[in-house]
Amino acid sequence: MSTSTRCAACRFLRRRCRQDCVLAPYFPPTNPQRFANVHKVFGASKITELLKQLPVHLRYDAAECMSIEAASRARDPVYGCVGVISQLQQHIIDVQSELVKIKSELAVHNAQQQLQLENGERASEQQQDELLWLGSTQHDPLNLDQLLIQANDYQKSHF
Ligand SMILES: [Zn+2]
Repeated sequence: MSTSTRCAACRFLRRRCRQDCVLAPYFPPTNPQRFANVHKVFGASKITELLKQLPVHLRYDAAECMSIEAASRARDPVYGCVGVISQLQQHIIDVQSELVKIKSELAVHNAQQQLQLENGERASEQQQDELLWLGSTQHDPLNLDQLLIQANDYQKSHF
């Protein structure tokens, strides 16, 4: 590789970029800051060692993660990416507790609705019973016809 196409890592380290440079695929010359950040946090030899230990298909993700971690550390020297992780964990806790609250409110609402439904059925059953009773006694609410017949019979037999 010529000097002009050195990867960002080799350019940063002022060395020749060899054909088999392990860093070249993950630190292109177009983004020099990416390697500068990663180098500051992990160091060039550590990055190289880490990537060499991994199977080739996992190296891109590892380089990406180191880059994100290093960029977070550059933005937030105290908490780095832990600051973002903590914020997101707190967000998850808040959302989970809101979910529990909403589920319990929903359960109360459903129970109230069920109760209203049952009361409504009971009320309409009562109404129906009353209507049936009224219906059966409407023509003779106190069964007066029968009482009159009995009274007449009594009169006839005793007077
Ligand atoms: Zn290189």
